[in-house]
Amino acid sequence: MDRTRRRELITRVGITIGVDGPAGSGKSTVSKRVALDLGIGYLDTGAMYRALTWYALDRGIDLSDQDAVAAAADAMPLELDSHPLDPHVLVGGVEVTDEIRTPRISEAVTAVSTNLQVRHWMAREQRRRMLEAREAGSGMIAEGRDITTVVCPDADVRVLLLADPQARLRRRTQELYGDQSPEHLEATRRQVEDRDAADSTVTEFLEPAPGVSVVDSSALGIDEVVAAVLALVDRDLTERTHP
Ligand code: C5P
Repeated sequence: MDRTRRRELITRVGITIGVDGPAGSGKSTVSKRVALDLGIGYLDTGAMYRALTWYALDRGIDLSDQDAVAAAADAMPLELDSHPLDPHVLVGGVEVTDEIRTPRISEAVTAVSTNLQVRHWMAREQRRRMLEAREAGSGMIAEGRDITTVVCPDADVRVLLLADPQARLRRRTQELYGDQSPEHLEATRRQVEDRDAADSTVTEFLEPAPGVSVVDSSALGIDEVVAAVLALVDRDLTERTHP
């Protein structure tokens, strides 16, 4: 299907796409590219967990106080710009887009993302954003850990993006440090392993739920992964417009 046709069909029926996967699987890059191609919104759900971590720390909240962090989620004045070319995250008018990627937040985010009250709040908020975009005759691609299973198990297209640990480590290091030197690889390995281990206690993101398509990106370039996701989009749009 060509791009114009896809966009036409999306205007008619809307679309929600969920992409899950571990750190370094290429989720963000792929999701942004697909969003741009389809002309739909992009939701980085990890950024929402990171923003809440930033906000709670900024307010001096003890991250192990689960009730207080959950209350902070309700109070957080979060603004997310869903444009895939230039996504911005603001909390109470303060631009935190870069700050939430720093090691200070990456190391603290697990205390927030393993809080089940917070997960419940996040799922509700993320789902609302996805469905509103779909109903508006456009759509949204959301990337995270539990989009295909908890946030939007009824998404039109659901993908689990996997990659072998070496490929993930190389990508994540490049993303964080802009190179792949041995010391940066080692620092990233510790960060990513700890975070994935903690995350996997509350969400399953290495095994596909029934109906979720697996794309293994280990040996694929970005264009090929994007093409694989677009093929799933085409299948979905064809099914929903030619019943
Ligand atoms: O994807 P990113 O590394 O920005 O995510 C930051 C953290 O947010 C993850 O390590 C995980 O703890 C949490 N997260 C989550 N569920 C999601 C997205 C992110 O638990 N859907």
